[in-house]
Amino acid sequence: MGRLTKKTSIANPSAAKAALVLDNAQELTQSLYKQNLELSIVNRTLSLLRKLYQISLLDLNPASLSQRISETIRVGLNMEAVGIFIYDQQGDSLSPYQFSESTRLNNALLKANVILSKLKITHATENKVFREIIQRKKSNSLDNLDEFLLNAHYSKKKINSVSHNIKATLLYPLVTQHRVIGILILFLNRRFENLNEYEKESIKSITDIISEALDKALLYEKLNTANNQLESANSHLKELDRAKSEFVSIASHQLRTPMTGIMGYLSMMTQGDFGKIAPEHMKILVELLAESQRMIRLINQFLNVSKIEAGKFTYTWKPTQLADIVNHVIKEVEKPAADKGLKLQVKMPKSAVPSIMADADKVEDVILNLLDNAIKYTAKGTVTAILESDKGQVHFSVKDSGIGIKPQDATELFNKFVRGTGIAQIHPDGSGLGLFIAKSIVDAHGGHIWVESQGEGKGSTFQFTLPLKPPADVAVPPPDAAAHVVKPRETVKTLKNE
Ligand code: ADP
Repeated sequence: MGRLTKKTSIANPSAAKAALVLDNAQELTQSLYKQNLELSIVNRTLSLLRKLYQISLLDLNPASLSQRISETIRVGLNMEAVGIFIYDQQGDSLSPYQFSESTRLNNALLKANVILSKLKITHATENKVFREIIQRKKSNSLDNLDEFLLNAHYSKKKINSVSHNIKATLLYPLVTQHRVIGILILFLNRRFENLNEYEKESIKSITDIISEALDKALLYEKLNTANNQLESANSHLKELDRAKSEFVSIASHQLRTPMTGIMGYLSMMTQGDFGKIAPEHMKILVELLAESQRMIRLINQFLNVSKIEAGKFTYTWKPTQLADIVNHVIKEVEKPAADKGLKLQVKMPKSAVPSIMADADKVEDVILNLLDNAIKYTAKGTVTAILESDKGQVHFSVKDSGIGIKPQDATELFNKFVRGTGIAQIHPDGSGLGLFIAKSIVDAHGGHIWVESQGEGKGSTFQFTLPLKPPADVAVPPPDAAAHVVKPRETVKTLKNE
């Protein structure tokens, strides 16, 4: 009924009616005004939330994200200062990012030589205020800036000289996945009780957005750091690998020269170039020669691998008769096979094998390696070399009755330095490089190399196919041109992939 009295209503009913209407109109205006005000605050809150959401989507750098968020909140909610502290659980410390401060507060702080963004809070959970926030995930409030600075272990002398307008300091935990990752700190120029419901509500809702955004940014930063560390470790490894290849290459070159000399003399001695040699000495010389040959082969393998890795393993392409190469290699391995009492067989096709475009020396190395291995890893029985031509390609295989291959080893053996499981105990003299080089050569010719075996003790068949022409992207000279050197396609590809 407002100001309308019983007396007025009796004396003058129409005046009373008018006063009632006026009263109602005033109440309505007031309520409309209040609703408008509330609506505008809701609008402001929503627009603030939208801005924060946009920042959280676009910025993945924790420092600049915190700075932009603090600035947006300070301006949007008309505060004196806003800042975000990150909580480091291991070190139990709170470290701030850049604070957003009003000019007035900034000037006051400058005068007092107080820099909020340098305020690292150590032993955070030993302080009651911060412990409440970090461990119980509860918000907290302090009366003014001085009280906050005192809790943050700031020296009293400096605080006393700060003149400012802060009536309340609010501290909110930033929580993701039940863990406090930081604290949002708001310095207000009003007391907390003087904030309206919507302001309180919007402060509450911004903490969720900030927590999510910060968590995402911190994770991204961690990923980035891990990525950078991996990248630098990777380039360090590459550098080490390059240095290793260079070392192997230099060392191998240095070793090869004297070894070639020694081998030359040994060979001349065993052939009687230096006169007659007693049989017991001759036996030693022959052994020395065999060992020197083995060492030269090993050195050559190291050199080849370092060339493959450096992309310098070059090929000389020319029309090649594989049958000639097979016959030539067979002659070379006849003696070692016979020494072990192995039966060595060759199977050639009845019709002529077409000539292929290849690097004959390198293909010869592959065939020699396969036959050498077959003899080395076969104690008794037969080693058979088979050459076939089939559907536009040639197919060479070496079948033996030796130790066989464990199924899990079959594909791995073609990798660098890989030997069969347990083989080192039985045959210590192997490098695990021959098949790696063989695969590199066959790949460069556009061919395919593989092994088939029924398993341990059941022999194995190492084989490769080569197309009649090398891959389309290998520049091969015209038929009558002198052989020239080109880089193989696959070698280059392999190196890039490593
Ligand atoms: P190396 O013989 O010097 O160790 P290779 O690269 O030529 O190096 O061969 C790799 C491994 O493959 C050998 O150590 C051996 O375990 C296995 N291997 C190769 N040829 C045969 C074969 N004919 N029978 C059984 N195992 C073989």
